[in-house]
Amino acid sequence: MINNIDTAAVEKKGYLDIEVPSTTNLVEEIKKLRKEKNAVILAHYYQEAEIQDVADYIGDSLGLSQKAAETDADLIVFAGVHFMAETAKILNPNKKVVLPDFNAGCSLAESCPPSEFEKFVKQHPDHVVVTYINCSAGIKALSDLVCTSSNAKKIIDSIPADKPIIFAPDKNLGKYLIKETGRDMLLWDGSCIVHEAFSIDKLLELHKEHPDAKIIAHPESETHILKTAAYVGSTSGIINFAKQDDAQKYIVATEAGILHEMQKEVPNKILIPAPSHEDNTCACSECGFMKMNTLQKLYLCMKYETPEINIDEELRLRSLQPIERMLELSK
Ligand code: SF4
Repeated sequence: MINNIDTAAVEKKGYLDIEVPSTTNLVEEIKKLRKEKNAVILAHYYQEAEIQDVADYIGDSLGLSQKAAETDADLIVFAGVHFMAETAKILNPNKKVVLPDFNAGCSLAESCPPSEFEKFVKQHPDHVVVTYINCSAGIKALSDLVCTSSNAKKIIDSIPADKPIIFAPDKNLGKYLIKETGRDMLLWDGSCIVHEAFSIDKLLELHKEHPDAKIIAHPESETHILKTAAYVGSTSGIINFAKQDDAQKYIVATEAGILHEMQKEVPNKILIPAPSHEDNTCACSECGFMKMNTLQKLYLCMKYETPEINIDEELRLRSLQPIERMLELSK
């Protein structure tokens, strides 16, 4: 028990399951806690709109890791998925990092188990290992360089042309980067369930209904989706493109949470989420892991400072090196 909190129950459930009086103004309480605890709230674009609205910073994986590296807050509240909060802890060993729901994982990160990946890397000892940031600390520790979708091309271009490369865990991003960089890379067979859920048939049908719309896509999407896109880029790249481009309508192929911040940036433009295979209520793709975090869980994890991310120091130091190389190359 810490602060009257049953830590074993939190560990078992993955989050604080405490009743909060319905009269509680969660946003106001979160703001108070932020001040009292010198906390910073970092939120990914795929978080629920109400979480984005209370965050100090909203960004993609690169922006969030840059913010995590430079923060002087004592408490980092990471509204995203586990590997993101873990990256913040790797960069800030002396700060407390909390995640609203410990179960917020990532299908892509899970598609690359460290023991399997270690065998794969050992089979190709002459290869430079580049991993997309959407992976566990165990995978980062086996890597020479980490990258995000914002800086992947730059990171790969920094590797001497005569060096063979392994790219993991996302095969779709890998295929896209092979095309973009002209480098022949060995790919790990991982993928994101959300970005693989887009239906090409429904997308083409939707485009027929809106021929004036430009398709813009995240490179975790499959090749046939990317081929239709006028622009392919990271979440922040997609928002910047819509801001600078002169079209008035876009079909957006990435997790639907991006639309909240994007609409604020381009209030007069029409944004349509790309359709997924599933016939869900919004006909778009949402990441169930990202959506595990709620405003109430965010409030509780700030109040009780749990669930907390902890990482073995030896693993942290090994996973820190490729992240630091990435941050250095991204300046
Ligand atoms: S959208 Fe895909 S890559 Fe991003 S957290 Fe969800 S499962 Fe992982």
